[in-house]
Amino acid sequence: MALAGPRERAMPTGASHQQLGDMDRLMMQRCLELAMRAADCGECPYAAVICRAKEIVCQATNSVRRDRDVIHHAEFLAISRAFHKLGRVSLEDRAVYSNTEPCAYCCYAVRESRIGRVV
Ligand SMILES: [Zn+2]
Repeated sequence: MALAGPRERAMPTGASHQQLGDMDRLMMQRCLELAMRAADCGECPYAAVICRAKEIVCQATNSVRRDRDVIHHAEFLAISRAFHKLGRVSLEDRAVYSNTEPCAYCCYAVRESRIGRVV
């Protein structure tokens, strides 16, 4: 039996196919607050929160302009921080919330991290 490689893994199911609950609304509200804060600092208004149930593991805002680094998207930074914080490279039991649809680059990071859910 062959193991599925990275290209065979399916993307996590997004919220568009699911009912949003109170926790989803709470985490998305947190994303929006962070995004507005980023915008107030002259950054693109994007944010991401990674959580497990009610626990926020990591959060990040877009910091491309501040850091002058094209890869510093909110989702990518949140995933990277979660890897470091948790000491592992799989986030199957976590969810990522983003106030925008992740770009192709961040979708790749989401897929490679095996995040269980994208909202
Ligand atoms: Zn991105």
